[in-house]
Amino acid sequence: KKVITRLPPWLKTPIPDSSSYKKIKNDLRGLNLHTVCEEARCPNISDCWGGSSKSAATATIMLMGDTCTRGCRFCSVATSKNPAPLDPHEPEHTAEALSRWGLGYVVLTSVDRDDLADGGAHHFAETVRKIKSKAPAILVECLTSDYAGDLEMVKVVATSGLDVYAHNIETVEALTPQVRDRRASFRQSLSVLKAAKEAKPGLITKTSIMLGLGETEEQIWAALRELRAVDVDVVTFGQYMRPTKRHMPVHDYVTPDVFEQWRVRSLEMGFLYVASGPLVRSSYKAGEAFIENVLK
Ligand code: SF4
Ligand code: SF4
Repeated sequence: KKVITRLPPWLKTPIPDSSSYKKIKNDLRGLNLHTVCEEARCPNISDCWGGSSKSAATATIMLMGDTCTRGCRFCSVATSKNPAPLDPHEPEHTAEALSRWGLGYVVLTSVDRDDLADGGAHHFAETVRKIKSKAPAILVECLTSDYAGDLEMVKVVATSGLDVYAHNIETVEALTPQVRDRRASFRQSLSVLKAAKEAKPGLITKTSIMLGLGETEEQIWAALRELRAVDVDVVTFGQYMRPTKRHMPVHDYVTPDVFEQWRVRSLEMGFLYVASGPLVRSSYKAGEAFIENVLK
């Protein structure tokens, strides 16, 4: 199997230096909060934390610790059967920090916590409620686990007062067993997205697909049809990047024009908003996208 090591030019990005970036970075120290933006060394940090305006600035906060009970083959987060217990002050601290930063949009995400009876759904919901009471102007997206198929837990989060419910299918159905943890499945993820929509009609639902894992065009079409069938509103496409040599190799670097084709095709299928590009991550400029495309 061919292994590509050199990055194509469209994947190189500048070093961040905006003032929002510095402020958030300083604030994170001592608060015991983790952003995916920093932990994953996301290349979009200056675009997102800076935003085109304050109301559009976006950050992704990782709740419930840094250790996951699952082990997806594309992900660099540490795995354990018994991660540390939840920090009961985390919902409050997160809301406090967010009310100080003046961001317009926050994505709350987490590791999967199969060790907890509720998968952490109530902790997530509590965080949303605290944010909405301390800083009501902030739009909140929750990017959740599949709760091992427990759709009651999806409902707990979907009705917590959030603005966008996101759950990532990550890849096409045929590649799911090789790419995601064995407890995840394409069908289960579709049922999560469907349940979120049904729990609160009108709620915006969103998912993300990585390209470059060896998926075929027909498989992508099929995935998009399934997503539309459960009324998913927003889809994002990004390039899979291998975090370390122990992770799945990149099958191919998809060119920017192919990403653009999927953006246009998806819009034609009826998605409300589509972000698609080599550096796009599920939360890429999510604030800007929401304000320009969903609130208009
Ligand atoms: Fe990473 Fe999420 Fe998979 Fe856990 S469930 S290994 S955090 S992608
Ligand atoms: Fe953070 Fe997501 Fe933006 Fe990356 S794409 S900087 S993880 S909000």
